[in-house]
Amino acid sequence: MTRRFEAELERLRGGFPVPGIDPAADEALAEQIATAVRQSLRLKTAAPRLLLSSVAELEAEAEANKLVSMDWPVPAEGLAAVVRELCECLEGLPLETHPRNQVNVNAQPSTAGIIGSLLPALFNPNLTSDGRGAGCSRAERRVVALAARLAGYEPAVAGGLFTFGGTGTVLYGVKLGLETAIPGAMRTGIDRPVVVLASERAHHTCLTAAGWLGIGEDRVWRVPAEDDFAARSESFAACACRAIEAGYRIAAMVATVGTTDAFGVDDVASLVVARDRIVADYRLDYVPHVHADAVIGWAWNVFRDYDFEANLLEFDGATSQALKRVADRVAGLRVADSLGVDFHKTGFAPYVSSLFLVRRGADLERLARRRDSMPYLFHSGRHHPGLYSLETTRSASGVLAAFASLRMLGRDGLRVLLGAAIARTQQLRERLGQWPWLRVVNASTDGPVTLYRAYPPDCDAAEAWSRELRDPSFAARSLAWNAYNRRIHEATQAAAHAGGPAGVGWTESACLGAAGQPLAALKTYLLSPFLDGKTVEELVQHVRSVRDRLRIEERAD
Ligand SMILES: *Cc1c(COP(=O)(O)O)cnc(C)c1O
Repeated sequence: MTRRFEAELERLRGGFPVPGIDPAADEALAEQIATAVRQSLRLKTAAPRLLLSSVAELEAEAEANKLVSMDWPVPAEGLAAVVRELCECLEGLPLETHPRNQVNVNAQPSTAGIIGSLLPALFNPNLTSDGRGAGCSRAERRVVALAARLAGYEPAVAGGLFTFGGTGTVLYGVKLGLETAIPGAMRTGIDRPVVVLASERAHHTCLTAAGWLGIGEDRVWRVPAEDDFAARSESFAACACRAIEAGYRIAAMVATVGTTDAFGVDDVASLVVARDRIVADYRLDYVPHVHADAVIGWAWNVFRDYDFEANLLEFDGATSQALKRVADRVAGLRVADSLGVDFHKTGFAPYVSSLFLVRRGADLERLARRRDSMPYLFHSGRHHPGLYSLETTRSASGVLAAFASLRMLGRDGLRVLLGAAIARTQQLRERLGQWPWLRVVNASTDGPVTLYRAYPPDCDAAEAWSRELRDPSFAARSLAWNAYNRRIHEATQAAAHAGGPAGVGWTESACLGAAGQPLAALKTYLLSPFLDGKTVEELVQHVRSVRDRLRIEERAD
C-alpha cells in the first residue's frame, strides 16, 4: 500500500470507536456522543411551541414539491458537520413527547429507555443468536418471561421474540395461525382457501399481514363492532361459521385489545370459548388460532393483581373503576394463543420496541427453517431465535429499551403513569361532556384516548349523534359535520404550529353511521407523564375558542 493510501485509511479510522482498550479514546467517544446529544436538545424551542425548531416548516413544504436528491459531499464531512446535519434532520419535527401534543398514541420514552436504545449501537449485538451477544439475548428472554407472566401465560411454557413493530407482531400471529390451519404452508404454500377474521375496528395491519402472507386483503372478513368499539364473540362466531360452511379454513381470529382510535377491547376469553365450541360443533381437524392485537392494551395487565379495595396508590374513585374495568377485560389475554406488545406505545420506550408472545413457545417451531439452509449461522451459543425469526439480523435496541424502561418504572410506576393518564382523561371527558354541542363518542371505553365530535350551532349533539348512528337518511348531514369537525381540527393544528396551545388529533372514521358513512372525530390522547389538570383545562378552552371563532366566521359568510 502506498503512503498516501495508508494515511487516508488512518484518517478514516479516526471516525470509528477504538476497538480495543483505550480509556482516553473512549472518553473522547463519550464526549462526542454527549456533544451531539446536547446539540440536538438545544433544538427544543420555548415551552408553548410544539415543534423542535422554528424555521423548518416552510422549507419542508417547499421541499415536498421538489425532487429530493443527495450528492456525495466532496470532500467527505467531519463529525461536527455531520452532527449539525443530523440536528437539521430533527428540525421541524413535532415535539411528539410534549404533554401538549395529544394527537396520537405517542408515549414519552423514559430516560432509561432512551439509554437502553442507544447503547447497543456501540457494540452491535445481533439477537439472531446468543452467540452474538449473550447478555442482550438473556435480556430478551427476561423481558419475554416478565411480559408472559404479565399476560397470564405460564412463563416456563411461553415463548416470544422482539420484532419490527406492532405490525410485525400481527404478521407473526397470523403466520402461526396459517401454519395451524394449513400445516406445512411454509414449504408447500397456501393450497386451500383461508380467511382471517378481525373486528371492523381492528388496525389495518391485519390487512397488511394477510396481503404480505399471500392470504389476500379481501380474505380478511370484518366482524361488526358495537357501540363500545369492540366486536362481540358471538359476531366472531357467526362469521367463523359462515366461513367454515363456505369451505374456508380460518388462518386466524384477531382480537383487538385496545383499538388505536377508541380503545375498544374485544373480549378474548369469550372469543376463545366460542372458538372451542366451533371446533367441537364442526369437528374441525385444527384449532383456529386466536391472536390478540394487544399492542396498546397489554399494559393494563399491571392492574390484574392490584388490590383496588386497599388502593394503596390512592387512585380516585372514577379512575379506579375505569382501570379495573379494563384490567378485567384484558385479563382474557391469558387464553390467547399469541399476542403483541408495543413497549413504544404504552411502555414508555422509544421506537421500535415490539414483542410477539406465544402461549406455547413450542409453537414457534412451526416457523423453523432447516439448519442446513443457513450454513453461515449458529456456530456458537445455545439460543437461536434466528432459526424461526422472520428477520435475520435483529437489533437489541428495542429489547434493551423495553428492559430498561420496565426496570426503571417498575410495576407500580407503570400503574401510576397509566392511572394518571386515565385520571386526566376522566377530567377531559367530564369537561367536554358539559357542552350540548359536543359529543364524546367513545365514553363507553376506558382508555387514555377520547374521541369527540362537535356539531354546528342549533344542533343538539346527543340527538344528532344518535340519529347518525340509527337513521340512514342522516348520511349527507354526517359528511357535512365531518367537514365541520375537520375545520376545527385544522384550526387547532394551525394554532399549535404558530406557537399556540395544544394540537388536537383526528380520525377519519371513529365508526360508521347507519348508512355506512364514516363518522369522523376529534381525538385527544393523554399519555405524557407531564400532563396536569391545567394542561387539560387549556385544551378544553382551546377547543371551545376555536369552535366559537368558526361560528363567528360562519355567521359572517
Ligand atoms: C399501532 C398499532 C399497530 C401497529 O403497530 P406499529 O408498532 O405501529 O407497527 C397494530 N395494532 C394496533 C391496535 C395499533 O394501535
